[in-house]
Amino acid sequence: MSDRIVEFDIAVIGAGIAGLTSAQSLRSLGQTVVVLEKSRGVGGRVATRRLYDTQADFGAPFLDPRGMLSQQLVQVLSRAGLVVPWTDTVYQIEPPPDQVGLSGQSLPPQTTSENRSLTIKSGMNPAATLSAPYYVAPTGINAVGKFLARHLEIWRSRRVQTVTPTDQGYWHLELEAIADSGDAAVPLAVQAKAVVMAIPAPQAVMLLESGESGLPRPFLDRLKAVEFDPCISVMAGYPASKQRELVQAEYRGRSLVFPPSSPLRGLFWQSSKGLGATQPVFVLHSSAHFAEQHLDAMDLETVGRELCDWAGEAVLPWFKDPEWIQVHRWRYAFCRRPLTQPLLTATTPLPMVCAGDWCGDRQLETALQSGLAAAEWVSDRLGGGPMPPLASLWEAIAQEK
Ligand SMILES: Cc1cc2nc3c(=O)[nH]c(=O)nc-3n(C[C@H](O)[C@H](O)[C@H](O)COP(=O)(O)OP(=O)(O)OC[C@H]3O[C@@H](n4cnc5c(N)ncnc54)[C@H](O)[C@@H]3O)c2cc1C
Repeated sequence: MSDRIVEFDIAVIGAGIAGLTSAQSLRSLGQTVVVLEKSRGVGGRVATRRLYDTQADFGAPFLDPRGMLSQQLVQVLSRAGLVVPWTDTVYQIEPPPDQVGLSGQSLPPQTTSENRSLTIKSGMNPAATLSAPYYVAPTGINAVGKFLARHLEIWRSRRVQTVTPTDQGYWHLELEAIADSGDAAVPLAVQAKAVVMAIPAPQAVMLLESGESGLPRPFLDRLKAVEFDPCISVMAGYPASKQRELVQAEYRGRSLVFPPSSPLRGLFWQSSKGLGATQPVFVLHSSAHFAEQHLDAMDLETVGRELCDWAGEAVLPWFKDPEWIQVHRWRYAFCRRPLTQPLLTATTPLPMVCAGDWCGDRQLETALQSGLAAAEWVSDRLGGGPMPPLASLWEAIAQEK
């Protein structure tokens, strides 16, 4: 065990949208809160990478303000100038019926002009024309996480390794410093009266089974029942000359979705999100099936290029020839089998709540809802007051200097 231990009322594991939401709510009640995050950045799967003098959102590509909390968040972020409307149309790539293989996996479409063009789903299709536009952050979608992280005590590059109850009524958390953290001053252990575990359920299982948490078996069984799909994200930059071609072709496919049989799930025109892009940049998301087959590949670049080939076959031929690519594997991208309640709690041996987008089926909206519900539950356990509405909390954060 580490000899430097700092005490807090609450330790939040994970600086994704759920963890940050919990932490802000609890902080607003005057509780002492630390957020422990294994990455260097905040926002979790709402992630942006800086690369080649530009940036790419390689997790969630936009904010979809169709849930109540997402809508309120978008309103506050818009007023703060952090997000802007991006598109209200989702385009669907339709492979010709004769190109769907017997196995259901689509065959590469022929590169004829017909199937290269984008088929816009009619306005009658609710999946295609959005009642509210998607919003993006011109500086990168991780602006959302950075906003939600304001004024919080966050220890980055610290992976929580074990969570163990002590005889004094505290959870004891041992931390691992991630190699590139650079901040040796941050301690390697924390004690807290309550823990909010805001990480994907399978990661929570691994963490809890690596120590002596003393949590009841049914609690762990519920966590184990949650399943995620993986996704491989490719960030691809194309020659600057292709920008003119996009303009000339009146290319409008900012947000493209593919049929379930395709190796691609989505294709997003990253460089249309901000001003002044000098080259076209696109982000490709693989299907879960494709990701499962290639998740442990040693050579991820080759896997990424295969996805570019598919995009070239289905959309525009030059998508096959990026100037550069970077590839990221998300082992836990989308929850396939969620919990059927907004949080998972235990009071034995001590207060512990698990939260995140896997506590429902609405992704970011669920992460917000679950993070808030976790904070309410912890506040009840620790005798805190009533929770302020998130919208007013976010307004206050936006005003705070
Ligand atoms: C490719 C992709 C596309 C997506 N598209 C959409 C979309 O279009 N619409 C939508 O609504 N949602 C989308 N999502 C999902 C959305 O991003 C998630 O639902 C949401 O961000 C989940 O937030 P969370 O806080 O529950 O979890 P996470 O974002 O996963 O946050 C968990 C955090 O915990 C940290 N962590 C994990 N283990 C530890 C540990 N042991 N110690 C310390 N820290 C730890 C992680 O680093 C991470 O920062 C997409 C996700 C991906 C990957």
